[in-house]
Amino acid sequence: MREAERMEEEKKSRNFIEQFIDKDLADGVYDHVMTRFPPEPNGYLHIGHAKSILLNYGIAQEYHGKFNLRFDDTNAARESTEYVKSIKEDVAWLGANWEDRLFFASNYFDQMYEKALLLIRKGKAYVDDLTADQIREYRGTLTEPGKESPFRNRSVEENLQLFEEMRAGKYADGEKVLRAKIDMASPNINMRDPIIYRVAHMRHHNTGDKWCIYPMYDFAHPIEDAIEGVTHSLCTLEFEDHRPLYEWVVHECEFPNPPRQIEFAKLYLKNVVTGKRYIKRLVEDGIVDGWDDPRLVTISGLRRRGYTPESIRMFVELSGISKAQSTSEMPMLEYCIREDLKMKAPRLMAVLHPVKLIIDNYPEGQIEYLDAPNNMENESLGQRKLPFGRELWIEREDFMENPPRKYFRMFPGNEVRLMNAYFVKCVSFKKNEAGEITEIHGTYDPETKSGSGFTGRKVKGTIHWVCAQTAKKVTVRLYENIVDEEKGMFAEDGTLNLNPNSLVQLNECYVEPALGEAQPGSRFQFVRNGYFCADPKDSVPGTPVFNRIVSLKSSFKLPRSSE
Ligand code: ATP
Ligand code: MG
Repeated sequence: MREAERMEEEKKSRNFIEQFIDKDLADGVYDHVMTRFPPEPNGYLHIGHAKSILLNYGIAQEYHGKFNLRFDDTNAARESTEYVKSIKEDVAWLGANWEDRLFFASNYFDQMYEKALLLIRKGKAYVDDLTADQIREYRGTLTEPGKESPFRNRSVEENLQLFEEMRAGKYADGEKVLRAKIDMASPNINMRDPIIYRVAHMRHHNTGDKWCIYPMYDFAHPIEDAIEGVTHSLCTLEFEDHRPLYEWVVHECEFPNPPRQIEFAKLYLKNVVTGKRYIKRLVEDGIVDGWDDPRLVTISGLRRRGYTPESIRMFVELSGISKAQSTSEMPMLEYCIREDLKMKAPRLMAVLHPVKLIIDNYPEGQIEYLDAPNNMENESLGQRKLPFGRELWIEREDFMENPPRKYFRMFPGNEVRLMNAYFVKCVSFKKNEAGEITEIHGTYDPETKSGSGFTGRKVKGTIHWVCAQTAKKVTVRLYENIVDEEKGMFAEDGTLNLNPNSLVQLNECYVEPALGEAQPGSRFQFVRNGYFCADPKDSVPGTPVFNRIVSLKSSFKLPRSSE
């Protein structure tokens, strides 16, 4: 009984794709599992693709199956090898290992051509002379059936000859197409004699000038899957209506044990630019600093910002796999990176908006080294020696001349703790003509040294600081959403509502020496300021540039598990 319940529970917690595959294996439809991630190399990958990658790879792992990385490079016009390189890098970084299973759809052009000939011979495909506009017109609508082309009933011999002439370059782009002969009255428009080959005189980055006819996606994709021996072809919901065509193609092309298409819902992020098309426009218009701009949710942008593969994996898992369209929120992704870095990242001190604090009773020129834990919650990260001196940098907002009630940081007469160091009491301050605070003076109490066990009195506020004499001056970048969330993603004319504050660069920040040595790509918590990453592109050893990954404040609460 208990066991049955447990098994029932387990079944429920498996997503619908796993349940589908379980059944296929139990029914003996397949005796193994093979999945694939099939990007078109026409842009960089984004967070939505991460869902597809991790889903396909995860399924292959779970069933001890195989995972293919296949470039769907059948549309020569839009593709480039720069994209191939970046996609490989991103898939590998996410941890999806394709081993030696790297494929290019363009390597299957010969087989696709053979399958087209097979269809013609079977009377299942014909060459059509209608123009693109006419084909559209003849196609009908959702409520009206389509009309058959006058060329639909050409003989097999004539079709074979015309198709061969198409291949040989006799026709101009658009002059003739090859269509599947299915059903012009089908309620599913995709089944109304879809085009499967078109004439296109263009160079392909892999096959060069070999071909001047290219297969259409709906014909090519199922063949690619079938050639590789994919069992479960996972794709997004917009292909649901194409499934009958997918099945028609693998069946009529006579593939034994053909793959099965299963659709799942795309990952959408509320108020975040994810579509390749929009990202491409931001890149081309120079609004962002390339495809890997840290404000973008491209995989390379997230990596450069400081996100980890683990945090993205956690996010994709929390978003769930389902057939119902839903929208995820950026705060959930931010929650995931905070969770991932909480124990892993050293917590060091950096002052982003500096003002001088001078400790009048501390000996001039003296530097002492205090012991400070690298992460209070994770002793295994060890300790460091933290320099302390007479002049320190503190945050401007940690001092107020006239504080409101409940302000426990620095103000004249108040005593605070300097994190990892001493109690300091504010005694005076200086202002310039503009009314800005230029320096703050205080006195410290040597008895109150952190870790000394001092219990004489307590203070309510603790602030962070950096020793001025040993500090490293660095650049820090703070980010916000690239679109204006108040206004919403799009303006009435269809352009994006951009947020003018999406990037704020601070050129005069001070960090403790350990941070000055940060390796490009390394991640830290700057206490009280957030998680930061030394930009892998703009940092050089000894001169880091820091990106804020995320602040420490969170508005996201993990939804209680429903199961
Ligand atoms: P975009 O929608 O950004 O233009 P695309 O679908 O054109 O992306 P492809 O290279 O064709 O990009 O996609 C490769 C794979 O990634 C496809 O199987 C596609 O279904 C999947 N994919 C794309 N976007 C998402 C998303 N937002 N969520 C989940 N999977 C996605
Ligand atoms: Mg696509």
